[in-house]
Amino acid sequence: MTRDVNSKYWDEELETLPREELEKRQLTDLKEIVKFAYDNAPYYKRSFDAAGVKPEDIKTLKDIQKFPFIDKKTQCDTQGVGSFLGELCAVPEEDVIFISTSSGSTGVPTMSPFTKQDFDEFQDTESRWFWQVGMRQNDRYVHALNFSLYVGGPDVIGAQNLGALCIWGGTLPSERLLFVLKTYQPTVIWTSPSYAWQLGEKALKSGIDPKKDLNIKKIIVAGELGGSIEATRKAIEDLWGAEVYDFYGLSDIFGACAAMCEAKDGLHIAENHILVETVDIHTGEVLEPGQVGELVFTTLRKHARPLIRFRTGDIGWIDNTPCSCGRTHGRIHINGRKDDMFIVSAVNVFPSDIEAVIRELSGITGEYLIRVFEKDFTCKYSVEIEKNTDNPASDEEVAKIASDALKARIGVKPYQVVVHPDGGLNTRSEHKSKRIIDERKLEYNI
Ligand SMILES: [Zn+2]
Repeated sequence: MTRDVNSKYWDEELETLPREELEKRQLTDLKEIVKFAYDNAPYYKRSFDAAGVKPEDIKTLKDIQKFPFIDKKTQCDTQGVGSFLGELCAVPEEDVIFISTSSGSTGVPTMSPFTKQDFDEFQDTESRWFWQVGMRQNDRYVHALNFSLYVGGPDVIGAQNLGALCIWGGTLPSERLLFVLKTYQPTVIWTSPSYAWQLGEKALKSGIDPKKDLNIKKIIVAGELGGSIEATRKAIEDLWGAEVYDFYGLSDIFGACAAMCEAKDGLHIAENHILVETVDIHTGEVLEPGQVGELVFTTLRKHARPLIRFRTGDIGWIDNTPCSCGRTHGRIHINGRKDDMFIVSAVNVFPSDIEAVIRELSGITGEYLIRVFEKDFTCKYSVEIEKNTDNPASDEEVAKIASDALKARIGVKPYQVVVHPDGGLNTRSEHKSKRIIDERKLEYNI
C-alpha cells in the first residue's frame, strides 16, 4: 500500500470528488443496480411491474422517486421465499460468502447477504471511516462490538486492512476489557456510547483513571444516538481524555454506513455506495436536503441483496453543503428511530432530545429513564433522573430545573420529573441501555 500516512483521506480522489462527478458515478451505478435487481431478484421484477416502472426509466438520479419503497416488512415477508436467500436477493447462494442478521429487536431478524465483492467493498468503506477519524498503522485498536451475527463484527477487518494492530475484543465482560485496556494500552476503541460512559466509570471505581492509566486517544461509538448528542459526547470525552466520533450503521447495509470527521458536524455517508433520500414519514413525499424526514437508502453497489428505496425507520436529514474537512460526500444527521418517536401535544419528541437536556444539567448523574403513557386519552411523557450525592438542592428543586429545561428545549413539559438518588435507576447495563418504557395501549400511526 502506497498511501501517505499524512494524508487525511483514505481515498482522496473518491472522498473529494466534485459533487457533479460523484452524482455522475451514482447515476451509472444506479442504472446498473436497478437493472440487476429487476433481472435477478423476483421481488423487484414483480413490484416494478406492478408499479409500471422499468430500469430504463432511470435517466437521472431523481427518477428513483418513481420506484416503490421497500421496508423491514418487505425483508421479513420475502426472506426464505423461493430460495434460502429469498426474493430480494439477486445472486445464487454459491456467490454469497457472508451473512449478518439484524438483532430482531423490532420483530423477525432479517438476514443481509454479501458477495465477495460486496464484502470487500464493505471493508474498504470501514477502512475509510477508521482512517477518517485518524487511525493509522501504529494504532492499537480494540473492537469491542458483538461478533455474533452482527454486521458490525467484521468491521475489525477494515481496521486490519488499514494496518492497525487489532484486538478482537467482542463483548468481553468489563473487568476483562479493562484488563485489556490497561495491559495492552490500545489507542482506539469502538463500543456503544452508553457503554463507553459506564466503562469509564467502572474504571474509576476500580482505581484506574482512564486519562492517566490508559492510552485511549479515540473512541468510536455507534448503536445509540449518544455520539451525535454534543453533551453526551463531551461527557465521554472528558471522562476518558479522548476524542469521540459517532458512526452510523445499518444491519441491512454496512457496520458503518456513515462516520464523523474531525468537524463533528453530522456523519459523512458513503455516497458512492448509498443514494440518500429523505421522505415525509406520513405521505412518503420526497423532501429537500435539510428537511427532516425518514431516511430512505438505495444501495448502489451491493449485488447479493440490492436495496432499492429502503425505508430505514430512522428520522434525520442530509446536508450536502461542503464540509470544512474537504470531503464532498453528504452528511447525515439522525434525530432518532421512527419507532422511538412519540407525539405530545402535536410535538414530535425524540428520546435523543431528552438525553441532550439531561446530559447538560449539572448536579445530576446524567442517567435517565423515559416513560411514555396515556392520560386523559392523550400521550404524555415523564422523565426519571438521578441526583448527585453531593447536590444540596431538594428533589423538588432538581425536578423543577429539569422540567423547565425540557420544556425550553422540546416545547412540551414532561408530565412529571421523578428524582432518584445516585444509582437509583437501574439503567447502567452492559453495552446497550434500555432508557425508554412505552406504556401506551392505543395504536399510534405515525
Ligand atoms: Zn467533514
